[in-house]
Amino acid sequence: MRKRFLIVLLVLPGIAFLTTFLPFPGSKLGPGPVISLRLLDRDGVLLREVLSDEGGRCRWVRLEDVSPHLLKATIAAEDKLFFFHRGVRLLSVLRALRQNLRHGGVVSGASTITQQLVRTLYPGRRNIWAKLREAWLALRLERTLTKQDILVQYINRISYGNQVYGIEAASRLYMDKPSSQLSLAEAAFLAAIPRSPTRLNPYRAPSALKKRQVDILAKMSELGFVTEAARDRAGSEELLLLPAAERFRAPHFCDFVLSQFPQAERQGLSAIETTLDYGLQQKIEILLRNNLGGMSGRGVSNGAVVVLDNGTGEILSLVGSRDFFDESHAGQVNGALALRQPGSALKPFTYSLALEKGLTAASLIDDSPAQYGNMEGSYRPQNYDRRFHGLISLRAALACSYNIPAVALLQAIGPDLLYLRLHSLGFASLKQDPGYYGVGLTLGNGEVSLLELVRAYAALARQGTYLRERSIVGLLRKDGEKEPVPIREAAKPVISPQVAYVITHILADQDARTPSFGYHNPLTFPFSVAVKTGTSKDFRDNWTVGYSPRYTVGVWVGNFDGEPMHNVSGISGSGPLFKDIMVLLNKGEARTWFVEPEGIVTAKVCPRSGLKPTEACPGVVNEVFVDGTVPLQMCTYHRERSCTNLVAKEKDELPTSARFEVTFPRSGDTFKIDPVLRMEHQRIRLRAAVPATEGIAKVEWWINGDKIGEAPFPFSFFWNLRPGSFTIKATAVRSGRVLESPPVKVVVLT
Ligand SMILES: [Zn+2]
Repeated sequence: MRKRFLIVLLVLPGIAFLTTFLPFPGSKLGPGPVISLRLLDRDGVLLREVLSDEGGRCRWVRLEDVSPHLLKATIAAEDKLFFFHRGVRLLSVLRALRQNLRHGGVVSGASTITQQLVRTLYPGRRNIWAKLREAWLALRLERTLTKQDILVQYINRISYGNQVYGIEAASRLYMDKPSSQLSLAEAAFLAAIPRSPTRLNPYRAPSALKKRQVDILAKMSELGFVTEAARDRAGSEELLLLPAAERFRAPHFCDFVLSQFPQAERQGLSAIETTLDYGLQQKIEILLRNNLGGMSGRGVSNGAVVVLDNGTGEILSLVGSRDFFDESHAGQVNGALALRQPGSALKPFTYSLALEKGLTAASLIDDSPAQYGNMEGSYRPQNYDRRFHGLISLRAALACSYNIPAVALLQAIGPDLLYLRLHSLGFASLKQDPGYYGVGLTLGNGEVSLLELVRAYAALARQGTYLRERSIVGLLRKDGEKEPVPIREAAKPVISPQVAYVITHILADQDARTPSFGYHNPLTFPFSVAVKTGTSKDFRDNWTVGYSPRYTVGVWVGNFDGEPMHNVSGISGSGPLFKDIMVLLNKGEARTWFVEPEGIVTAKVCPRSGLKPTEACPGVVNEVFVDGTVPLQMCTYHRERSCTNLVAKEKDELPTSARFEVTFPRSGDTFKIDPVLRMEHQRIRLRAAVPATEGIAKVEWWINGDKIGEAPFPFSFFWNLRPGSFTIKATAVRSGRVLESPPVKVVVLT
């Protein structure tokens, strides 16, 4: 048994050694197709030139095409014994194995140029077996190719960071010159990158790279490749690195476009014409940086913006982060595609379902404490302002973004329907079952992307028609053929034009959101904009999404690491940036209101009950309705209340109790000041029930402890509304005794 084991132990390495005489597969060593793919904006501005990718080269260079400095610098940097070993250095393989056993992972990076080449030809996991296989393949490669050919393969295939492969592409990207013209300083700089293209990225870590360049120059001098004088001169030479902003315009957008083409397909293309407006993109990048700069003290480090043209669905601008090359804030994460909780930003879609079920903008919804069960137990939704607002109109509930009414509506509609609605509007990221989200879906407990939100809001702007956004308009093939890009999904109606219009009308109603957002908020516009904000739990994410008739804009601010922000709401975080972008977009645009579809009617309703107004109603408001849903019922609220005071004729309806009390308004009543109506008309008639009128000459009326007037029979008194909270009281004197009504508390909203 033991003998057999020994034989195996001796024979196996022998066989392995013999197999290294097998020739290296030649198919792996072909030069690969030439890549030069230009990404253009909608006016032909060059956004990026892809010079190489993992499958293709910019141009296959021979040793004599490359600056000799580069070859020497590469050997000094990576493998000074390159011309003397047979593909592997046994000592360093053994050291790597020992470190592997000790640390449980490959630690040592000192592999030969041949081994590194094998690794680029066979990318994959790096474990102990991969390391042994790599050494075996390196031995085979050395038997197949000359040292010169191995070096050619290496400099043409190795990664130089920023998705650039091969020295020719690297030289043109960073230095804007062919690799034959590289100076000693430039050659040492570029030769420094392959050791760790990420850690030594020229755009993100220029100082670390400079340090390694100096080290490489020193090694070159030690090896006798350069004189000490040349070393010192090169070390102090100022390098003119082409700025990243020039080479990587709209970087997240370009990555997004390229991700839509498999590598094989890219190789047949010479240009991609995109929908981006680079002039606009640059302005938005600056606005984003400026706005984030103003929030630096509040723990906000990043933001993202998407702008769509409503008519065509074309992406005009997509900014994924503040700075693509800022590694300390994960700048390469594309904030337009990252999945985050949208807070209240999905509420309009809940309300669109409610309107389809027959509710109207004037319907009353109860904003009172409520409790819901879900799988994790029960929960009570809370409003942002931690208050309850009683019966409020659907318009107010959506415009003020109260949570309780939204949850109550979704409970009645069923979360499944919202889930289906969101999917038909393109929220593919909601991958769980509807039951997983439950009614919390309307409060944003599912994670979605900014692009998805903008896509869905653009459907509202388009009168309910969903259209997949586009980023590419045309393709230029290498053979000169021009190819338009077909539209992947046909436009489809999802929400009726009338319902979409009512939602738009509410989201564009600056007065309706005032109770929640205040008069002076950044979401007031001198032109038509429908807008909604969202803030995720603990202020981690902050959104503003909205549209003018022509453009849909989405803004996210937050942190990629999920750190909460301090005191940032939709209004103070993403709101000002949203406004800046909308103003920029609509400069010079005709100021039109959203197109009103057929089947919309405007009618007057009582602001308190949402029903047909009566004489007794305290003013009326205009409301928009889907034809056929205008309320026909007279306001019962004010008729009932006022009847009790029509003293003479309807005595039988008088309260039977002997209480002296205020009968209108009632405690808890809320009034809203109509922004259109003149203030002097905005008054209510205070009424009191006086059980036995004999002996009472007059009733005195008090607001917040101040007497505002007195009224003889029938004792009612007009009070002009003003914003605030009020306690109303009536007093009277009978037989020398003062009667006092219980206080009535009301709120008047602006
Ligand atoms: Zn009324």
